[in-house]
Amino acid sequence: MIREVIIGFVLALLVFLGLDGVDIWPIVLLLGLGGAIYASGIFNRLGTRTVRKVQVSQVTTSFQDIGGQNMAKNELKEALEFILKPDVISRLGIRPLKGILLTGVPGTGKTLLAKAAAHYTESVFLSASGSEFVEMYAGVGAQRVRQLFQEARNMARKESKSSAIIFIDEIEVMAGRRGSNQSHLEYDQTLNQLLVEMDGMPVHDDDVRILVMAATNRVDLLDQALMRPGRFDRLVSVDLPDREGRLSILKLHTRNKPLDVDADLEAIARETFGFSGAHLESVCNEAAILAMREESETIGTKHLRQAVDKVMLGERMDRTLRVDDIKRVSIHESGHALIGELVAPGSVSSVTIAPRGMALGFVRHAPDDDRLLQTVSELKADIQVLLGGSTAERMILGERSTGAANDFEKAWDIARQMVFSGISSLGVIKEEALSQDLLYQTLRDIITEQQDIVDALIMEHREKLLRLADTLLEHETLSGDQVRSLVAS
Ligand code: ATP
Repeated sequence: MIREVIIGFVLALLVFLGLDGVDIWPIVLLLGLGGAIYASGIFNRLGTRTVRKVQVSQVTTSFQDIGGQNMAKNELKEALEFILKPDVISRLGIRPLKGILLTGVPGTGKTLLAKAAAHYTESVFLSASGSEFVEMYAGVGAQRVRQLFQEARNMARKESKSSAIIFIDEIEVMAGRRGSNQSHLEYDQTLNQLLVEMDGMPVHDDDVRILVMAATNRVDLLDQALMRPGRFDRLVSVDLPDREGRLSILKLHTRNKPLDVDADLEAIARETFGFSGAHLESVCNEAAILAMREESETIGTKHLRQAVDKVMLGERMDRTLRVDDIKRVSIHESGHALIGELVAPGSVSSVTIAPRGMALGFVRHAPDDDRLLQTVSELKADIQVLLGGSTAERMILGERSTGAANDFEKAWDIARQMVFSGISSLGVIKEEALSQDLLYQTLRDIITEQQDIVDALIMEHREKLLRLADTLLEHETLSGDQVRSLVAS
């Protein structure tokens, strides 16, 4: 508003001076130059840039909008008591919490939790990213930290709130170990300022209580001073959701979408082990887009499954393969699917020869339950499934192709995992004491043993494999149930 009034006033002055016979062109030139510099954002970079602000009235995310993460939510609620019950805290002489650090892989809901914390405590919410404090000009980052805390206090007072939550995402960018960064002076000053602000936060008086919440997925990079009691002394780990968590996230993100009455969200939750909340949100969104493309009124399990594939592997490709290649891919994928069903019955969720992303075809496996620990026989079975594709190619088509390179790499990784977990024939070993030759030989033995098993299985079930491959060629995609009925017949 003020800017508009000033611009209007300057224009009127110029017109007046022009009419009065004054040469206004030098003034116009100077003003133009000033405007260009302002627009280029140099001032912003010199430290006047403000952080993103979200006022409390705009924070509508509550703990109910976050699926799963029950442990993180409970820990957080417990920690937030000091904002909700300042009298009790002060009566008992408890040192209130100043900082909470949320750790976990990207997309697990750390930002959502911070917003929900602001909603829960009716606090003013300000958020910034660690990278916003990092500049090449010394002192700018520290100045921004000061501004941020000042702004939190001002906003809370303006809104008549007694508390403010400052959320700093990617805190490792500004709070890495001091002295470890090349332009360390600037980084160190920024971190020092953050520590100063946190130390200086009022504890028991009636002024605005500030809680700093920060998120990182690299807690190992943080300066130890940050974790000292009295600073970020509560660490809440925000893990990838388990099956129940995935189901509730899927329910949350489909609540405003027209789902088929028999859409099987439980199956989707089972098949999405390792997905974060952000992945699951994307699955729901992609499923709706697929339903729209098909002009379907509702979203079904089929759309959700295709969306899982898309999120996992990328968009379906229109690339046309040679007939021979399509046949080879169908034999290869049938080999994986057949071995999958033989060594772990019920584990195949779908198999397709529709190319997506880098994959020309793929089998999706959905174990009964999330697997957090694996036994020797499970790991060996995984290697057998990986070898199934190339073995099928060799035994049916006479030779193998480059299509199995990735399978072999994964098989070696699993074998390596067995060796270093102490569950190979070498027993418990010390990595540094193991010679490369012995390691290689042991890995080879593990792979060869599984290869012999897979050869025997494919020889025995050759007819089933051919039937599976033909049906796959015909239908392009088969569900787990279709695979099972073909393998059982
Ligand atoms: P990053 O580390 O990349 O900043 P983050 O952990 O802060 O990620 P958010 O930004 O909170 O993740 O989540 C991204 C999106 O993923 C959210 O907007 C939401 O749509 C979805 N999401 C993530 N976790 C959950 C969850 N537990 N419940 C519901 N939605 C979730």
